[in-house]
Order: sequence, then structure tokens, then C-alpha cells
Amino acid sequence: MWHVWLMTAGPNGHSGQPVIVAGAGPVGMVAAAWLVGAGIPVVLVEAEPVPKTDWRASTFHAATLELLERLDITDAMREEGLAVPVYHFRDRRAGLIAEFDFTLLADETRYPYRLQLNQQHLVRMLYERLSQQDGVRLMFGAQVVDVSTDATGATAVVRTADGTHSLRGSHLIGADGAASTVRQALDIGFDGYTYPERFLIASTTLDLREQVPGLAYVNYVADPIQWLFILRTQESWRAVWPVPAEQSPTEATSEATLQAQFQALAPYEPGYPIVDSQLYNVHQRVASTFRRGNVMLVGDAAHINSPIGGVGLNSGIHDAVDVARRIVRIRAGDGDPEAELDTFAEIRRRVAVEYVQADTQRNTERLKEADEARRKATHEQMRAIAADPDRARDYMRRVSLLESVRRFGVGLPP
Ligand SMILES: Cc1cc2nc3c(=O)[nH]c(=O)nc-3n(C[C@H](O)[C@H](O)[C@H](O)COP(=O)(O)OP(=O)(O)OC[C@H]3O[C@@H](n4cnc5c(N)ncnc54)[C@H](O)[C@@H]3O)c2cc1C
Repeated sequence: MWHVWLMTAGPNGHSGQPVIVAGAGPVGMVAAAWLVGAGIPVVLVEAEPVPKTDWRASTFHAATLELLERLDITDAMREEGLAVPVYHFRDRRAGLIAEFDFTLLADETRYPYRLQLNQQHLVRMLYERLSQQDGVRLMFGAQVVDVSTDATGATAVVRTADGTHSLRGSHLIGADGAASTVRQALDIGFDGYTYPERFLIASTTLDLREQVPGLAYVNYVADPIQWLFILRTQESWRAVWPVPAEQSPTEATSEATLQAQFQALAPYEPGYPIVDSQLYNVHQRVASTFRRGNVMLVGDAAHINSPIGGVGLNSGIHDAVDVARRIVRIRAGDGDPEAELDTFAEIRRRVAVEYVQADTQRNTERLKEADEARRKATHEQMRAIAADPDRARDYMRRVSLLESVRRFGVGLPP
């Protein structure tokens, strides 16, 4: 059965039409909340029946927390999250190499730290808010199966339990994740590569600081074979490590393997209480364009990367705010639509390539460097950066995405 929801056009051609947001992950939720807050009607279409609660990204950087202030949500995130000003670059054999301190940025941001908070909490907070707001239609259990764009707007074909529907909007924001249907429907390439090793994320409720004295709340631990990324959230300690291509998922996620990994970090005779584990493929890929007509790609639909550095979700949120600000201006008749949307596509793709991809690739290579001379050179480089306040400050500005935001802005007029 097909239903067509007709929307009446207002004086600027689309003031009665909603913006369609495909995907209610953290990036789609931010886009929806921003637009609704600006008085623009939104239809948020999500394939799952309820917001996802699986553990994924858990880091919010300074630049993102500043942007989210406008949604009046940063304080709630800080209340639930863990502010971590210091992180370590370590080597499994050589121990602590360098300590980096975000408080060096205290004179340029109100958030001189990483906020550790599992992404599903942001999704929950925004979902609760949107559920109570006028001007937004939440369609959960509704899968976008096709998308098209034309001179006056965009159309999504959506499949729900009671049939297939056609939705019409002034714009459509594709926030439907790495396997984006929106991206595929518009035949937009997603070139890049997949790491041969998969990444395993495992969480334990045991306090790792008691097992490894001096451990920071965020640690990058280099090793040619078994590098580690260890961080703390309010719920647990989480470790990420590589799983070789030849190891089966069953073996990689078995209790014995998970225990062996934690025991290698620090022996604990009773056994680590492990509360969660996930094995996943990691890619470095960027969409060939972030815009086709009135459809824009944001977040993982537009770019995916290694989690080492915790910038993928952050830059996805910046995409969402950037495009939302432009749509607000276009809908108010204040911006040239073509120039606004082209600027979104150009700048956000540039940030994805020049910052997010470049930094996460380098971070990941640094952790797994096998050449002894290069490994030692990396140690020296990290020590030298940490020891020089000016270099350390530049480094922290870059890793916290403040540099890219100060350079390009987020959603500035063309
Ligand atoms: C297992 C795993 C672990 C991760 N761990 C980390 C980490 O430790 N650190 C890190 O920085 N990043 C991590 N990431 C990446 C991080 O989770 C993403 O960058 C982030 O979720 C991107 O948000 P998003 O809203 O763009 O996409 P998503 O969170 O993927 O949300 C997309 C939403 O769209 C919905 N959807 C998909 N297709 C359709 C459709 N056709 N119609 C309607 N809805 C649809 C999905 O159900 C989903 O709710 C991890 C990812 C995975 C998969």
C-alpha cells in the first residue's frame, strides 16, 4: 500500500514541508533537534523500533561540547559523563611515553578535557526531548528504502509494518550510518579501504587503575602485535585491541580469549568481570560527495574511520550542525541554497579527509608500528611534543577538533 503525505508549500516554496532526517543515531538526532529548535518541521525516520543502545563511541571533544551548548544538552552530558583532562601515550614494552594535558587549552575552551560518555546516552537524551516536542514526527520501525532529489525538494520511500510510504521534504539529511541506503540510492561512491584486522571492544567493571597503577583514564598503548586503546567511562573500563584476520569471531569473543587479553594487561586471579564485547570491521572511507541536490550526507553515512582518536562521531555531529544551520538560513530566505549546500559539501568533506581520515590513520599506524627504528622515533616525537607547551598545545587543539572548527567554522555563511 502506498500513502503520499502531501505538504503545502509556503511563501518561500517549502515552508510547510518538513526536513526528512534518515537515521536516528547520534548524528541524525542532533540534526533533528537543531532543526526543530529553529522551528523547522522534521520527520525523523529510523529503521529500528527504538533508539539503539549498543556501546560504541564514547568520546566528546571540546569543539563538539561547545556546539552542543546550543541544544542546551552539554550540562546534562557533563553530569552523566566523565571529564578526562589527561591522556597517555604508552608502549606495551617501554611503559609511559608521554602525557598530554587538555588543560593547556583552558584559555580557549570551556571544556579543556575529553568527556567520556557512551553515545547511546546522547541519543537517549535527545530522543526524550524530541518525543515531547511539537514539530517533529518520530517514525521508528521505518526503513528508508529509496531516495530521490529534484529542483524543489527530496523524496524518501519508507517501509513500515503497515506498508510503503512516500515522504516529501524540502531537504533530506542522510544520517543512516556506514551502510547508508541514502548514499547507495544516489549512487555516491564510498572509496577507501578496510583494515585487515578487526577491532574488538571489551568492557570490564573491574577498576583497571587498581591493577595498573598510574594508568590514565584514556590510554593509547602501542605494540607491533597487540596494541591497545584503554579508556574509562562511568559504566566500565573499555579496551580495544586488534583481532587478526585468521581468528574466528567465536574464538575472538570467547570468555577465554577475553580473559587472556585482560590478564596480559595485568594479572587478576579471580578473573575479570567482562560486561560487553563487540567485534567489528574498521574502515577508512569517505563519500565521493556529501551532497546531491537537496540530499546531504552526514556522520558515518559520509565518512567512517578507525576509532583511535575518537573523532569520527564528533566530526559527524559537526556535519549535522553545519548542514542544519544552512537549512535554517535557506528556509528563512537568508541564504543562497546552491552556495550554502555546496559549501557544506566542500568544507565537511575537506575536514573528513584532511583531519579525520589523516589523523585516525596516523594514530592507528602509530599504535601498531612494527619497525623498531620508526617505533623509537615515534616515542621521541611524542615525548618532544608533550615536553614543549607550544607544540603540545597545537597538538591538543588538533586532536580535540578545535583547530578544524576555528579554521573552517561550522555552518558559516558561504
Ligand atoms: C561496533 C562499533 C563500535 C564502535 N566503537 C567506536 C569507538 O570506540 N569510538 C569511536 O569513535 N567510534 C566508534 N564507532 C563508530 C561510531 O559509533 C559512529 O561514528 C557513530 O555511531 C556515527 O553516528 P551516526 O549517527 O552517523 O551513525 P549510526 O550511529 O550508525 O546511526 C545510524 C542510524 O541509522 C539507522 N538506519 C540505518 N539504515 C537505515 C535506513 N535505511 N532507514 C532508516 N534508518 C536507518 C540505524 O539503525 C541507526 O540508528 C563504533 C561503531 C561500531 C559499529
